[in-house]
Amino acid sequence: MIKKYINKLYETNNTTDEELLYILDNLDVDSKEYLVEKSHATRMRTYGNKVYMRGLIEFTNYCVKNCEYCGIRVSNKKADRYRLTIEDIIDCADIGDRLGYKTYVLQGGEDPFFTDEIMVEIITKIKDKYPNNAITLSLGERSYESYEKMFKAGADRYLLRHETATKELYEKFHPGASFENRRECLWNLKKIGFQIGPGFMVGLPGQTNKDLVNDLRFVKDLEPQMCGIGPFIPHKDTNLANEIGGSVDKTTTMLALIRLMNPDVLLPSTTALGSIDTQGREKGIKAGGNVVMPNLSPTSVREKYSLYDGKICTGDEAAECRLCIENRIKGAGFEVEITRGDNIAWQTKKVIKNDVKRTFTLEGDY
Ligand code: SAH
Ligand code: SF4
Repeated sequence: MIKKYINKLYETNNTTDEELLYILDNLDVDSKEYLVEKSHATRMRTYGNKVYMRGLIEFTNYCVKNCEYCGIRVSNKKADRYRLTIEDIIDCADIGDRLGYKTYVLQGGEDPFFTDEIMVEIITKIKDKYPNNAITLSLGERSYESYEKMFKAGADRYLLRHETATKELYEKFHPGASFENRRECLWNLKKIGFQIGPGFMVGLPGQTNKDLVNDLRFVKDLEPQMCGIGPFIPHKDTNLANEIGGSVDKTTTMLALIRLMNPDVLLPSTTALGSIDTQGREKGIKAGGNVVMPNLSPTSVREKYSLYDGKICTGDEAAECRLCIENRIKGAGFEVEITRGDNIAWQTKKVIKNDVKRTFTLEGDY
C-alpha cells in the first residue's frame, strides 16, 4: 500500500491528506529507501545532480519577537547582541562574489533598526555593485509596503518559514504573534513578485504527523519557488532547553515528500540538519535537497547568531566553508552549481518588471 501511495506521489506530485498521513505513519526502512529513491529521481528530472550555493550573511541578532524555540528571542537576556554595519555587509558581499556566490541571503532577527530606508540602501548598494547577483531576504514579518519597497530596490527572493501550518501549535510557540499574519505575509510577498520560501521545523514538541501533513499541504497550495525545512534543535537559554529535538530521519523524510510534491522547488539541506549529524547535509541532499547556504558572516559574530545549540561552522572563514561544502557535495556524488540558481519554473516565466532594478537577462544566467 505504502509504495502505491509513493508511486502516486511520484507520478502525479500529489495525493490526499489521508494518504500522506498513511505514508508518515507507516514508513519503515524499506519504504523510506523507496521514498528517497523516488525523490532523487524527481530532482534528477528537474535540476539534475546540481546543488546550488547561497552565501548567508547573518547581519543582526536583535529581534523583537519571542519565538519559544529561538536563541535570539527578545526575552533571552543572555544573547550577546550585534548588528553589522552597511560597510560590513558590503564586505561580506565582496568576499562572497570573489568566492563565486551569485546569491546572497541576508538574514536576521526582526530588528527595527533596519528600517525600510536602510534596507533599501543596502539592497541598492549591493545591486549597484553586483547587478547579476540575486538578493534573498529573510527578515521576518513586515508590511506589504515595506516588502514592496525592498522588491523595487532589487531584492529578488524572500525566505519566511511559516514554521507550522497548525494554528494551535503556532500559537503555542509564538506568544503574541499572529498565525494569520505570518501566512498573509507569504501571500503578499508572492503577489509583489518575490520568489518565496516558506518552510517549517520538524520535531517541534507536540508536533504530530497530522501537523506535518498540514505543512505539506500548505506548501503545495502556496506553490513556492523555495522551501526551508530543518529539525527543531533546543537552545539552552530558552524554555524548550530540555525538549527533544527533531531527527535526521524525520527531516529527510519531509525533504523527500516536499521534493515529490513540488518537483521544481529549491530545497536547502540546512545547517541545522548538518548540526545534528556530521553527515546531515549530505543526507539531506540525497533525500532531494538541492541548495546549501554556506556562511559568509564575519567569524566574529557567528557564535552570536545562535538560534539553536551546536551550530556548526562558527569558526571557519568563508573560504573554508566554501571548500568544505564543495567537498561534501562532490563526496555525496553531486555537482556544485554557482550560478544565481533561480527556480526553473520561474525562469520560464521570464518575469522582468521594468520598474525594478533587474539588469540581468534571465537567459544569460543559466
Ligand atoms: N527572524 C527571521 C529569520 C531568522 S530565523 C524569521 O524568523 O523568519 C530563521 C529560522 O530559524 C526560523 O524561521 C526558524 O524556523 C529557524 N529556527 C529558529 N530557532 C530554531 C531552533 N531552535 N531550531 C531550529 N531552527 C530554528
Ligand atoms: Fe526572531 Fe526569527 Fe528567532 Fe523568531 S525565529 S525570535 S523572529 S530571529
